[in-house]
Amino acid sequence: MAKKDYYEVLGLQKGATEAEIKKAYRKLAKQYHPDLNPDDPEAAEKFKEINEANEVLSDADKRAKYDQFGFAGVDPNYGAGQGGGFGGFGGFGGGFEGNIDLGDIFDNIFGGGGFGGGTRSNPNAPRKGSDIAASLSISFMEACKGLTHDIEISRVEQCEECGGSGAKKGTDAKTCTECHGTGKVNFQQRSMFGMMTSTRPCGKCQGKGKIIEDPCQKCSGSGRVQKKKNISINIPAGINDGMTMAVRGQGNIGTNGGPRGDLNVRIKVRPDPVFERRDNDIWIEVPITYMQAALGAEIEVPTIDGNVTYNVPAGTQPGTTFRLRGKGVQKLQREGRGDQYVKVFVEVPRNLNKKQKEALKAFEDTLDAKNYEKRSSFFDKIKDLFN
Ligand SMILES: [Zn+2]
Ligand SMILES: [Zn+2]
Repeated sequence: MAKKDYYEVLGLQKGATEAEIKKAYRKLAKQYHPDLNPDDPEAAEKFKEINEANEVLSDADKRAKYDQFGFAGVDPNYGAGQGGGFGGFGGFGGGFEGNIDLGDIFDNIFGGGGFGGGTRSNPNAPRKGSDIAASLSISFMEACKGLTHDIEISRVEQCEECGGSGAKKGTDAKTCTECHGTGKVNFQQRSMFGMMTSTRPCGKCQGKGKIIEDPCQKCSGSGRVQKKKNISINIPAGINDGMTMAVRGQGNIGTNGGPRGDLNVRIKVRPDPVFERRDNDIWIEVPITYMQAALGAEIEVPTIDGNVTYNVPAGTQPGTTFRLRGKGVQKLQREGRGDQYVKVFVEVPRNLNKKQKEALKAFEDTLDAKNYEKRSSFFDKIKDLFN
């Protein structure tokens, strides 16, 4: 039986004011109250309708949902078991849990008399599949450049043997004799308003409306199996260690025609012996000789695009850092790249032989204060300190 429009139930127009709704509800509730209509199932049914309409229309939020989506907006079970008429649910993005459960409304009215029952989890409602997780280890360079990579995942798929029905190949699920396929059974309930007829999920078929007599052996009647699969994923340039990539629609299969969950891939980037990443910048330390630092030199500097030459100026001090603009990592899903910072490390020669030591001493003897700017000013400061 088709459900009556809530406004129609209260004898109102769609744009009715709050006061009009209140007034209409009071009048009709009095008229059809079970205490005043004993042993009148029609009045009881009508009273139930009136209460349901009022619960939705007197609540601004519920009313807005109802106005926009109809019954589907306020009752997650509406349309269930009607063979795929779920078009209207699309806008919810699978978020059925967010809707109002009319069972709760009746629980509130009747003091938790058990109307709620199983309505909150209709077994026939489409549900999004759950997400699955995987991890992938890639090199520093792969993270900088991006790549397409195959990963093996294990996820829930529809059983091929039975086509997801859960019934043994060649057999069908039987229509439940208890509920005649509706998944719901009527029952009588005593309430403060007298006897009421209500519905609850069918216990024989768990509300599914069908019973599998001969279950598929491959999936034990669930219609679902765990399966390994290779998925090719595109990892964007600029991804960083510890980031999780969501690959939409590659998770577990949904139920009752609901969409698949997502695949969340956690990325591990192996450290590189030469390059170090800081956000989108790359840091590198380049050793130069004492002589190169003193005289200046053209040196080769590795970047993720290959070697570049750089002119180290004469008199470069240890720890000097210079910047190669735009030679860093691609910004993730944005324009532009970071920079590369090159820190100069002056390597002091070790293991000198006698001849080298003498040459170095002879050289040092030729130097004076103007060659050692920092050293001179440092000792000047100390002198000031004690005078
Ligand atoms: Zn099966
Ligand atoms: Zn049943």
